[in-house]
Amino acid sequence: MTAQAVETEDLATVIGLEVHVQLETDTKIFCSCSTDVGDDEPNTHTCPVCLGLPGALPVLNEGAVEAAVKVGKAIDATIPEETTFHRKNYYYPDLPKNFQITQYGAPICQEGELEFSVEGERRAVDVRRAHLEEDPGSLQHKGGSIDTADYTLVDYNRAGTPLMEIVTKPDFRAPSEVRAFLAKLTEVLEYLGIFDATRDGSLRVDANLSIVDGSEVAEDGAVDRDVLEDANRTEVKNISSHKGAEKALAYEETRQKNAIQRGRVVEQETRHWDESKGVTLSMRSKEEEKDYRYFREADLPVLRVSDWKERIDIPELPDARRERFRTEYGLDDESADKLTSTKEVADFFEDVAEQFDPGLAATWVADELLGELNYRDMQIADVSGRFDEIERLVELVATDEITTKNARETVLREMLDDGDSPDDIVEREGLGKTSGDEIQSAVVEAIDENPDAVEDYHDGEGGAINFLVGQVMQKTGGSADPGDVNQLLRDELEG
Ligand code: ADP
Ligand code: ZN
Ligand code: MG
Repeated sequence: MTAQAVETEDLATVIGLEVHVQLETDTKIFCSCSTDVGDDEPNTHTCPVCLGLPGALPVLNEGAVEAAVKVGKAIDATIPEETTFHRKNYYYPDLPKNFQITQYGAPICQEGELEFSVEGERRAVDVRRAHLEEDPGSLQHKGGSIDTADYTLVDYNRAGTPLMEIVTKPDFRAPSEVRAFLAKLTEVLEYLGIFDATRDGSLRVDANLSIVDGSEVAEDGAVDRDVLEDANRTEVKNISSHKGAEKALAYEETRQKNAIQRGRVVEQETRHWDESKGVTLSMRSKEEEKDYRYFREADLPVLRVSDWKERIDIPELPDARRERFRTEYGLDDESADKLTSTKEVADFFEDVAEQFDPGLAATWVADELLGELNYRDMQIADVSGRFDEIERLVELVATDEITTKNARETVLREMLDDGDSPDDIVEREGLGKTSGDEIQSAVVEAIDENPDAVEDYHDGEGGAINFLVGQVMQKTGGSADPGDVNQLLRDELEG
């Protein structure tokens, strides 16, 4: 391997990703084993097909193809007339057939693009291809990590889970861009309803990084093909989170820059991200394409997908929805961002906004509900069965039956903590708004009982009115609106 001709003063970072995402289908990609594995015993979701037993034949899962077409539409990719499957040959214990069924020459998605924002700036990264393949099984290293374990067990429950591998061009120029891209990708996949970010290992990233001479990077960030090909790059595997990707790449960026500045060669190799130690470690020299002996999977016919793109619909995507929320409901950027953070939140907000004032709906969903959920480390999905109750709470506020303060500080919190309905809580805590007459008599009482405060008020002392408001609130058990009470007191004192 020859040393790279790199000026040590001005170094630029080049990153390209291969992102594996598990598609949410009921069954595996080539057999009818359930993908809903949960904490089930190892090797209980298996059959001759996903165990790779001799003579077993794969049958393609239509749901996986539909999900792939949705991804293609979402990233504006070309979906070819026909797509084919190949065998990628290699031996590893998690791959019982000794080959992985994947796509090679004619992947289902070609030449797409994904836009995202990073530090307030709009960026777009080209997706070279996104193809379907099967997930291998998983290994459990006992008594240590991959290189120190006493022994290793293999579980084929995961083998055959549908995967999509999304390969970007080397368009990233910083680890922070990768993190923002992954967040956006996750958001889009969740909107499509084909991805579960909370599932363990549902997103795995292989990240390629090289360092080039800064002068090779054009104004618009483009780098010449030859320069990219000549640069020695490392591929970091075992990354399973957005933050992990940023950390692993920042480590790798520093490591490579240091090597170059000391006049050393960066080896072209595969490295392993050790999350607990926060370092990347050399695994092996990088395999090349020819090592895999790709050839057509003769057990799967050519798949004609030309008309699938028209047949399959995708929902409005986050960017479009955010924009519509701004214009249709007059939301500011921050609220629009929060309310489109997941499809479920956005759908719920629109449901509330249809029934009540959109401004009130935005406050209650974006600020109150999401705030209280966040505080409790809960997700919107944890309350999706209780949307009716939350709407009832908004109704109680909208129709002035309880005060905003009580709704926020008592009812919503108790709903989330104890699981009670808003009406039960209002009843139990006596939060129903006190009627006008009762408030009026409390106002008169407070004035009669506190001649000193009344005198202070007439002397122009600002604090006096607050004291009197406090007295009335006490008499009405906090169920009056402080603003109303303030006005009633002034009317009475001036009248
Ligand atoms: P390979 O033949 O090794 O699989 P590919 O051209 O298919 O290489 O690219 C694999 C990944 O490596 C892609 O995500 C691509 O963006 C990335 N990549 C290519 N060149 C570079 C580079 N110079 N630096 C960083 N990443 C790169
Ligand atoms: Zn199976
Ligand atoms: Mg490749």
